[in-house]
Amino acid sequence: MRRIIFIILSVLLVSSSFSQLNVVCTTDILADAVKNIGGEAVNVSVLMGSGIDPHSYRASIGDVRAIFGADLIVYSGLHLEGKMTDLFAKFEKLHIQSIGVGDLLDESELIVLSDKGDLHDPHIWFSIAIWKRCSAFIAEKMIEMDEVNADDYRVNLDQFIVELDKLDWETKKKISEIPESARVMITAHDAFNYLGRDYGIEVKGLQGVSTASEIAATDLIVLADFIVENQIPAVFLENSVPMRNIEALIEAVRAKGYELKLGGELFADSMGTPGTKEGTYIGMFEHNIATIYNGLKE
Ligand code: ZN
Repeated sequence: MRRIIFIILSVLLVSSSFSQLNVVCTTDILADAVKNIGGEAVNVSVLMGSGIDPHSYRASIGDVRAIFGADLIVYSGLHLEGKMTDLFAKFEKLHIQSIGVGDLLDESELIVLSDKGDLHDPHIWFSIAIWKRCSAFIAEKMIEMDEVNADDYRVNLDQFIVELDKLDWETKKKISEIPESARVMITAHDAFNYLGRDYGIEVKGLQGVSTASEIAATDLIVLADFIVENQIPAVFLENSVPMRNIEALIEAVRAKGYELKLGGELFADSMGTPGTKEGTYIGMFEHNIATIYNGLKE
């Protein structure tokens, strides 16, 4: 009898280790949340890894193959993934569920893009308050789909929220140490509006919210004037945007007799290399805040 129970238990253990929830995420930032919530119980893959620009991304055959093996697709939404979202809807018919976290948020939480009517800024991961809500949406979905591991997902979510609260507190403290007049961030594209809103930093992107838009010469001159007038010390690079526009800005400012320094590289639409500190959401966020602090504090 004892032997039979042992065999049954072994079979259950082996089969449960094979019943991992397969989750495909569009960005590595989403994958980080899924891994934090899912732990060992999920198998996570990412379509757009470190350094990839989501605004101009097109799904590959490999992506479609990855989606075929998935139980759940997690995407950012708010048009970040463009037409890929239509593809995800088609997979629903094959019982591959999908969740677009940004699309579940209340409009009052979102930043409206001034020149685009009713469109909202998709860079929601730079609001820790919003990211906590998005993580809860993901956890809810995973709990609904995988009752066996539901309790673990709840515990892991709580733990992740505690870490995000700590990150929020540390960010507030660090930003408060930058003189108020220097709290102006000039970056390659407008990815940091939520960070600016939540922590009181004025944000000016060179290229607009999507990386696809070209920078106009007149915008460059206006921004150069603003920098010289306000004695902005630094401009920041981004990991998924080419450097040429930032170089053009530094040149335009130099032509006015002012030296704008390069404040280092920020992670914008993707995290750092997997396995490094910046290859996690919290590590990437801390890196960005330290870089902003060092660039603007004097
Ligand atoms: Zn972006």
